[in-house]
Amino acid sequence: MIFNNSIRVVDAALMIDDLPVYAIARELETPVYVYSLKRIQENYRRLKAAFAPVGARLHYSAKANSNAAILRTLIDKGAGIDAVSGGEIARTLRAGAAAQDIVFAGVGKTVAEIGYAIERGIGWFNVENELELQYINEAASSIGTEKVQVALRFNPEVRADTHPQISTGHGGAKFGLTAAAIGKALAGAERYPNLSICGVHLHIGSQLGDSAATLQALAKTRQLIKPYPNIHTINLGGGLPVAYRQDQSIPSLEELVSEIAPHVHGYQVLLEPGRAIVADAGILVATVLYVKEQAGKIFYIIDASMTELIRPALYGAQHEIVPLTQPDDGWVVAQVVGPVCESTDVLASDREIARLQVGDRVAIMTAGAYGMAMASNYNSRLRPAEAVVAVDGDSWSVSRRRETIGDLLYANVSESRKV
Ligand SMILES: *Cc1c(COP(=O)(O)O)cnc(C)c1O
Repeated sequence: MIFNNSIRVVDAALMIDDLPVYAIARELETPVYVYSLKRIQENYRRLKAAFAPVGARLHYSAKANSNAAILRTLIDKGAGIDAVSGGEIARTLRAGAAAQDIVFAGVGKTVAEIGYAIERGIGWFNVENELELQYINEAASSIGTEKVQVALRFNPEVRADTHPQISTGHGGAKFGLTAAAIGKALAGAERYPNLSICGVHLHIGSQLGDSAATLQALAKTRQLIKPYPNIHTINLGGGLPVAYRQDQSIPSLEELVSEIAPHVHGYQVLLEPGRAIVADAGILVATVLYVKEQAGKIFYIIDASMTELIRPALYGAQHEIVPLTQPDDGWVVAQVVGPVCESTDVLASDREIARLQVGDRVAIMTAGAYGMAMASNYNSRLRPAEAVVAVDGDSWSVSRRRETIGDLLYANVSESRKV
């Protein structure tokens, strides 16, 4: 379902909580992202409750959407953070996260990022390379941190039921360490006196269609860590799925948790959801610039494109497109495309959609995750503003302004260098 308690159609108008989206959109330039903080809070609470039987601690995966108002909302509710770069650590600290509540993941952390994270007192490192253990140990020793908590990221070599481009836990993927490499690292743990290697981390992909691969991976994990009583934490990663089409249903969380429970019994459990918290709380609002009919097709050329939302171009993702006010002019099959000079800049192809006119506004639905976070300046386009509807449901604010031409140019320098 693409509609929910917060984002829904009432009397032919698309609403976010108590506000019609058209009323927000007419105050701002399009394209613009609009998020419901109420829905984000509700998603967080729902996941927290569903995973309560295994006592999971939730670390929001900031890469899904690192909007400052969203981060603050989740941190205020007690969420930890899953960060994947020094930049994400800085942003989430700025939004109020406690360093202890941040886990730092990533397949290619630099020595500088590792040093920064240790200086700030980050809670956990999810480690994906043997050399990385050495770097973390050296940094901890030189900064004077006695023990840094480490979880080793396991690549269980299972094939997850998801899009190949968002699958991470199969053999041949760049992510994680094999069972053999983990065994070797644990056997040689005394070489890292400043590390406490006490966790194992799993993240086999995003938008996971069913639990089979997760359960398979967990069975392998238990086998792997059984001989090591020091390992007291299993981090299950993210990957909880979201419905992107009106007719799509997703597996029950309660069932997933009851299947997982026996595998994690006796361990502290961490979870790193991103998409499941923010995806259905956000929309991307755009305006129809042109309507072109050629080669037997109708093209709606809108002012949003792959630079605001790259998922359709990158993964063939489908997002529903809903007019802000339902026009009464019948349905057509159309191509909804952006202005970017790329053939893949198509937001919907051969999509049945309400007939639109120049100037009509539409919402690209379920765009709260991996939308703005992946936005770019390609074609020297300005990244859009982000507006948030407050938890009270009837006030809203701009939490990030639209970029300006000045923003595009601000990093230009002319520095002469000598070798
Ligand atoms: C991307 C990512 C997540 C979040 O994934 P979602 O599918 O958005 O829940 C969690 N953990 C790690 C290590 C990731 O890379």
